[in-house]
Amino acid sequence: MTEATRKKLRELAGEDRFVPGIYNYCDRWCVRCLFNTRCLNYAMELERGKEAPLRELDEESFGEELIDTLTDTVEMLREMAAEAGVDLDALDEDVELNAAMAEKERQFERSAEHPLAAASMAYIKLIDSWFEDAGPAFQAKEDDLNARVRMGLDEAGLAADANALADAVAVIRWYQFFIHVELQTALLHAQEEPHPLLADEPRHSDGKAKIALIAIDRSLDAWDTLGRMFPRHETETLEILAHLDRLRRAAEAEFPEAQAFIRPGFDEADAWAEIAPDLRL
Ligand code: SF4
Repeated sequence: MTEATRKKLRELAGEDRFVPGIYNYCDRWCVRCLFNTRCLNYAMELERGKEAPLRELDEESFGEELIDTLTDTVEMLREMAAEAGVDLDALDEDVELNAAMAEKERQFERSAEHPLAAASMAYIKLIDSWFEDAGPAFQAKEDDLNARVRMGLDEAGLAADANALADAVAVIRWYQFFIHVELQTALLHAQEEPHPLLADEPRHSDGKAKIALIAIDRSLDAWDTLGRMFPRHETETLEILAHLDRLRRAAEAEFPEAQAFIRPGFDEADAWAEIAPDLRL
């Protein structure tokens, strides 16, 4: 990162047009996000000159983006610590710090082994195998739509069908990895947070679980669309719908306060009033 970019990022962080922390509980689909002009994270991505918000959210790009962001953040932290007279390298020798990192690692392992993590990982694979099986049906559907357009049949209806199909596929693919990542993050944080009944503050884990639940709901709708469009794959589609529904109920049981979590911006009437005055939450 150049010095000029770093300076610009610091300036951006001082602007008051952004909703604090909005990017912590969103679905990272920035091009579709109605709050992207109010999001510091998005402004920084644009400033870095990357196309990360426009990229497909597959495992590889998700990891690359995370590493880039973490590298930049660590660099900036080092600079700020040096300005404050703190030597971060000296902390590497700290015994307590090492113990805390070892505990973090154990927490990560526990979250990765949790049934919710396993079920959301299984969902990733179910999607891949559904699309593999349905490949020829997609081609047939496309041929059918084209043939009907050539015959001059109901152009508006065909366009609506094509859009619904494209949107359903986009939604399913966008959330394919996202649901797993967010649920595992929620499980990770929950290990160091107070029990929901004892928590004074909203729990970060509930916010993460809430956005995972939202992604599951949108994916269920998208599968419903695919199910109607590809009746020959009804059995596999119903299997996926049932799997997602079980995952949803298990996530709600694990995070009973998730639905009540208020996400900055997205769940606030004031924030919506500013960007869409006619909309009522
Ligand atoms: S809040 Fe919106 S713009 Fe910001 S990171 Fe999330 S999806 Fe992207």
